Amino acid sequence: MAAYHRGVNFCPRCGTPLAPRLDGGRPRQACPAEGCGFIHYGEHSIGTGAVVVRGERVLLIERRTGDRSWWQIPGGFVEADEAIDTAVEREVLEETGIIARVVDVLGFRHATAPEPARASNIYVVFRLEALAGEPRPDLEESFDACFVTREEMERRPGVSAMSLWAARKAWDGAAAGGFARESDVPGLQRPGHTLYGRA
Ligand SMILES: [Zn+2]
Repeated sequence: MAAYHRGVNFCPRCGTPLAPRLDGGRPRQACPAEGCGFIHYGEHSIGTGAVVVRGERVLLIERRTGDRSWWQIPGGFVEADEAIDTAVEREVLEETGIIARVVDVLGFRHATAPEPARASNIYVVFRLEALAGEPRPDLEESFDACFVTREEMERRPGVSAMSLWAARKAWDGAAAGGFARESDVPGLQRPGHTLYGRA
């Protein structure tokens, strides 16, 4: 396979100029400094989506870029030092003012990096239960926020297909349940680890 270094030329750990090395069947940018061992495997990002449920309704936000506007479920990127469930609850609060708690995972989408300048991405969609608050946009990333019924979401123009897919998982699979947080498994409780499994 071709090299995939996307212009990464210096070691982010020690600053040494990187040099190609065959690793795992393809050339990669690697640090030649003794004792460093850094190899650039590419960039990977984690996004979250939140189907926030309140009764029969789910939470939608309006996003805008330039003259384009659309509706989707709230969510955003996970910081590298942040637990994924903390991240999705934080994004919901920031973008909508709603305090919500993760229930389970409805599904995820993996996207490979389409070009060397981009990161691969996993977008994990959670179901959350709304606990408190009334929807209000932050006017930076969200420009409107409201709870809608399934009928309203299905017929509203400009709703993201991915968000509709996610909300239908919550409405159709409400009884089944997805992967849920497991915080009491002996031997698997470590700082920074978040474990999700099928009940
Ligand atoms: Zn190095």
